[in-house]
Amino acid sequence: MIATCVCGGTSIELPEPPTHATECNCSYCSKVGGLWSYVPVDAPTILKDEFGAVFSASGFNQHHFCTRCGCQTYGISPDWSLGDTEAPSGKKFAINARLLDNFYFEKLVIEPIDGRNLW
Ligand SMILES: [Zn+2]
Repeated sequence: MIATCVCGGTSIELPEPPTHATECNCSYCSKVGGLWSYVPVDAPTILKDEFGAVFSASGFNQHHFCTRCGCQTYGISPDWSLGDTEAPSGKKFAINARLLDNFYFEKLVIEPIDGRNLW
């Protein structure tokens, strides 16, 4: 399963199609429209990230995007699900499911996250 941005500058391979995605209403996610499917940080293969750049407001979440076509591509964030209360040691990878090629992201189970009030 391949995810690409509009211009093709970013191309990411996932071992299998996601079944779930998180839709977060925090100030960042709501403005960029990301639909996040989380996978283990070592699961995806970044085949190409030719025009990629990173935005991070807090230093925790690394939001990757394509500077050529403007697509939000992926994110790397601490894995808070591991139970750490301080800065978590584990990371997780979020692919923007909207970029998956030949995939009906509308069929994903969408899990809303109230990021606006959580962080
Ligand atoms: Zn692009």
